[in-house]
Amino acid sequence: MQTNLIPLYQERPEGVVAEKILRSCVHCGFCNATCPSYQVLGNELDGPRGRIYLIKQMLEGGEVSEKTRLHLDRCLTCQSCESTCPSGVDYHRLLNVGRQLLEEKLPRRGLPRFKRKALAWFLTSPRLFGLLLSLGRIFQPILPSALKSAIPSRADVKIGPLDRTVGAGLSPRVVFLHEGCVQDAISPEINLATRAVFSALSIDVQTLAGGCCGAIEFHLDEQAVARSRMRENIDRWHALISQQPSAFIVSNASGCGAFLKDYASILADDADYLIKASELVKRVKDPVELIDGDELAALLSSTALVKSGHKVAYQSPCSLQHGQKLSGAVEGLLTQAGVDISVLRDAHLCCGSAGTYSILQSGISQELKQRKLASISDVNARHVVTANIGCQTHLNSDSGLGVKHWLVLVAEMITMTRSES
Ligand code: SF4
Ligand code: SF4
Repeated sequence: MQTNLIPLYQERPEGVVAEKILRSCVHCGFCNATCPSYQVLGNELDGPRGRIYLIKQMLEGGEVSEKTRLHLDRCLTCQSCESTCPSGVDYHRLLNVGRQLLEEKLPRRGLPRFKRKALAWFLTSPRLFGLLLSLGRIFQPILPSALKSAIPSRADVKIGPLDRTVGAGLSPRVVFLHEGCVQDAISPEINLATRAVFSALSIDVQTLAGGCCGAIEFHLDEQAVARSRMRENIDRWHALISQQPSAFIVSNASGCGAFLKDYASILADDADYLIKASELVKRVKDPVELIDGDELAALLSSTALVKSGHKVAYQSPCSLQHGQKLSGAVEGLLTQAGVDISVLRDAHLCCGSAGTYSILQSGISQELKQRKLASISDVNARHVVTANIGCQTHLNSDSGLGVKHWLVLVAEMITMTRSES
């Protein structure tokens, strides 16, 4: 695609990045076919090609308006279009630039601005979030129905401390667990299960100090705040991994993992941090990348679920399949371990969670959720698992489906077998 950026943007690093990406797009429109917002709304401007065009217009000096913002806001940042694009267009990076420059040209005001600031603050304050969630759960029976359904229930899971079982002959492997910000308040069993399963696989888990990865603020118009949080994290974590050259940072929330793996790209114009960020990114892993299929199979072979052959439906988070490019990884690992995994129809499409999208764009989000619930219902599985707290909470609200993280299911399977023997 030809471009003609105005001098202001030609001189800025963001403009240089955006121009390169714009030129890689051939405007073929293949991406629209796999874009969830385009599938729901059917408007060219609510698909990737239309949004790319809107950003191009802005960078070429065209007028921007609330209509521009509306179409950019409706993007779920699911990166499904990137998986489809034959030209390798780095769409989400372009969108990041587009949203940042739009905010500079036409700052959000009034209630929408306040709402985003409040969300960014609340969701990155784990203690406050945890306190309000506990109060919400206590008073849930008397709350209005809209609020009642927004409060995630406490999962009823049984996970025992799991001793080293397999891989004990290998030299110790160490991971630093990124525990996230609000995940521990909503579903503490996910970090518990990660520790238990890794322990059974003879992988030592240590806690990674520090909280939020910065994704929440970054996607709520607070890119400068997010960047400063990222730099703090890099300073803290780079020193740690430098001392332990074979250790990895593991994130069991694929949304956080995808953002952590994007650190070097986001800080590409920061000469002081780019090298450290690139080194850090190489060490960030999703749990599925660190678990050996044969070792997991040895752990699960005698479990009741494997022996029974009951189906498990897997909801693949966009942040894992499109963001981290790990499409098929969890399904493959669990299948290798003997679990009967059912892949969902339209598995490439977002469930509508997408961070705070479910709050800020609830209409589209709910439509996508209903579509996902229908595809889950089609496979008639005994359990439904995912790899991201956002998808889990979104799909569980109102549905009573009991979606859990796949590591929680694995930990439960092993715990049950051991308690029976
Ligand atoms: S982003 Fe890729 S798929 Fe979409 S219009 Fe551009 S080149 Fe085609
Ligand atoms: S990131 Fe997702 S919602 Fe946004 S344009 Fe791409 S496919 Fe559509």
